[in-house]
Amino acid sequence: MSFDAAHLANRATAALRAYDPGHDLPALRRLHGALLAELGSNENPLGASPRALAAVQAGLAASFRYPDPKGGDLKRALAARLQVDEARIALGNGSHELLMLLAQCFADAATSVVHSQFGFAVFAIATAAAGAQGLRVPALPGDHPSMPYGHDLAAIAAAVRPDTRLVFLANPNNPTGGWFADAELEALLARTPPSALVVVDEAYHEFADAAGPRSALRFADRHPNLVVTRTFSKAYALAGLRVGYLVAHPSVVGVIERLRESFNVNGLALAAAEAALGDEAHLREVRQWTFAERAWLAGELAARGYRVLPSQTNFLLVDLGVDATALEAALFRQAVIVRPMAGYGLAHTLRISVGSRAENARLLAALPSR
Ligand SMILES: *Cc1c(COP(=O)(O)O)cnc(C)c1O
Repeated sequence: MSFDAAHLANRATAALRAYDPGHDLPALRRLHGALLAELGSNENPLGASPRALAAVQAGLAASFRYPDPKGGDLKRALAARLQVDEARIALGNGSHELLMLLAQCFADAATSVVHSQFGFAVFAIATAAAGAQGLRVPALPGDHPSMPYGHDLAAIAAAVRPDTRLVFLANPNNPTGGWFADAELEALLARTPPSALVVVDEAYHEFADAAGPRSALRFADRHPNLVVTRTFSKAYALAGLRVGYLVAHPSVVGVIERLRESFNVNGLALAAAEAALGDEAHLREVRQWTFAERAWLAGELAARGYRVLPSQTNFLLVDLGVDATALEAALFRQAVIVRPMAGYGLAHTLRISVGSRAENARLLAALPSR
């Protein structure tokens, strides 16, 4: 008798596939050392605040103890910074965990979840894991004059049904880099019934400098069904420590708390995030540097004949107009890692993080002119 637990998986899990990590980065680091250009995961090459690193060092010795299950110090620091009540904050092992928890807590087989085509991949995964029906709304067209492949907020609002429990939006969005203006979100919120939570994933919030996208948080008072998620993985450069948060109505936080694993955020991550939040000068430096480097890299790519989509993030989506598999493989052979987008249905594009200047230069040197 052969045993295969795949047949035993529950209905929702049976429909899922395991995360595809892409290349074996630890092996590639051993092979290429400092010559590897890691432009596939939107990490912040400037690294975390020295204060965060010092907090990790100082906290190590207490690692025999469980962390604070409430994350009280970090929540108080966030509450003060965001000018919201602590009861509106939940902490996650990365914001990925919070997106999954939202679906697990509010969606099930009897409900639907709305998200945009080319929205962040976790939205569809969280929906499927909860066994809910995903209502995928067609994105704006690829030749849209201002926001190619962007969220169509009017169509998203129209897709909401009485059985819809969640609407997932990302602003700015991964993998497109695009965004929507606060006014568009305000119109969507006005049309969405309180039976659906509107989740705005602001993982790249700190990298936005255009007029239009500020933060959904300003609508929280008027729309109790609004949920905003943020992360310390990107601008704060703590991706390896896994910490994110959401801001929502206290009753939403109350439901999340029922399923949240008590010690989901480890002690070093709590200490690092709190210290990082306190270092405003470091964040300012990260933002200024990223704005400048993003503009420079976009210009260099455009000068080589590449179509670069508008970005308010720390990555650029490059639209080749033809299948990108060969180019991705050619870059890989030269130790330049970028992210192929076939999984998103964007096989003709590549997502390229804004790396260090040395990494970006290696990318440009490896890239054929078009
Ligand atoms: C990177 C990213 C996240 C953050 O993930 P963490 O789990 O917090 O590391 C969330 N949403 C989007 C759109 C992202 O790109």
